[in-house]
Amino acid sequence: MSTQGNPEDPDSPPGRNPFEEVLQRVEEANGFLDLPGPIYRRLRIPRRSLTVSVPVRMDNGEVSFFTGYRVQYDMARGPFKGGIRYHPGVTLEEITALAALMTWKCALVDIPFGGSKGGVACDATGMSRDELKALTRRYTYEIGPFIGPETDIPAPDMYTDEQVMAWIMDTYSMMKGYTVPGVVTGKPLCLGGTVGRRGATATGLVILLEETVRHLGLAMKDLTVSIVGYGKVGAVAAGLLHGMGAKVIGVADSKGAIYNPGGLDVELLSAHKAETGGVSGFREAEELTIEELIASEADVLIPAALEGQINASNAGKLRVKILAEAANNPTTTEADAIIKGKDIFVLPDVLANAGGVVVSYFEWVQGLQRFFWKEKEVCDRLREIMTSAFEEVLSVAAEKKTDTRTAAMILGVKRVAEAVRVRGLYP
Ligand code: NAD
Repeated sequence: MSTQGNPEDPDSPPGRNPFEEVLQRVEEANGFLDLPGPIYRRLRIPRRSLTVSVPVRMDNGEVSFFTGYRVQYDMARGPFKGGIRYHPGVTLEEITALAALMTWKCALVDIPFGGSKGGVACDATGMSRDELKALTRRYTYEIGPFIGPETDIPAPDMYTDEQVMAWIMDTYSMMKGYTVPGVVTGKPLCLGGTVGRRGATATGLVILLEETVRHLGLAMKDLTVSIVGYGKVGAVAAGLLHGMGAKVIGVADSKGAIYNPGGLDVELLSAHKAETGGVSGFREAEELTIEELIASEADVLIPAALEGQINASNAGKLRVKILAEAANNPTTTEADAIIKGKDIFVLPDVLANAGGVVVSYFEWVQGLQRFFWKEKEVCDRLREIMTSAFEEVLSVAAEKKTDTRTAAMILGVKRVAEAVRVRGLYP
């Protein structure tokens, strides 16, 4: 683990640096690729990092100042693409790490986008709708000159949703003087969103789990599943898996964890969360700490919340067959080393949660053509892309005799490096 803040800046403050962890993964991939020095160094530096101050008049009349970021990591293969996160823990290092991961992810599933990410350090759960709208509009205004359908296309991430995308689209359109639906994906359907985007990340994950189960000779209906994070990804994945006969036995969110080895009624649980704001207190389930849930036995563990939740202190305690990383960067590099020594099949984040950006790509394409697809077309094309990426990762892992995460990174980094090489150095 890092003790240095920014690996490219020796004066940066100490602490866990998620970007440095991503760079370690690039280094591991490069151990197999042996890229030319200048290209390798180019892939270790974000192309553009923007920090903005976001003043917001709060409901009590006072003005609060929030810090926002947009990091555009690489655009060799197409426009920058990446979500926007509202969370108190947002930092430049975190957003840079997430922007880098978006770059390898888009390349791994072979869609013509680069990678970016944005975020504002704020507690969205404690803000009113008016405050969130004001924050979103001012943040959009500040990053406005750097985004657009051909340049950089935001989407939802933690604590942002379709409504936030609608506000971004409206603000950007007001700045331009005409309506620009293509500036964001994950929009409401009435503004040019696509069918299937809302559940796309979870659907992509479940398609990969179906492939994994087949690969390992297991059966979906026999699976027990624990999920950390019960939001747009975790809750939808729970519903889909439950519908396929798997047993969701444990769920955690920011407020606590619940567990029932006999299986949770996912529909009732979602109603309980909608009513009370959390999964805790759900009847017919035992209350656990999040750490206890992570250490409990299940066939599948799905981290679907923050990064670093699988770390050196709990990786050794994992008792699962499959780690399906719905979250971005949920496993630290130290934890990764421990997991490699265990018999755990890892669906790494860049593969596992790519369904979201794949359907965002479909939304962008449909928007550019002003021609919209039926749900079956979206689902069939998503399945085709996810299964073929899964097969490619397995085949590289076998060929290079390496783990699935390194194989996924090899594929993603190689494709970006190739685009950088063929384009050449400007000027
Ligand atoms: P969300 O805001 O809809 O839900 C987040 C969930 O995580 C909530 O249930 C929240 O209570 C829980 N949570 C927050 N802090 C927690 C903690 N410390 N411990 C346990 N649970 C905690 O967010 P989301 O869109 O579902 O995103 C979840 C993860 O999936 C993120 O890592 C995100 O980057 C990744 N992801 C999301 C998408 C997407 O399309 N939304 C796509 C790719 C990857």
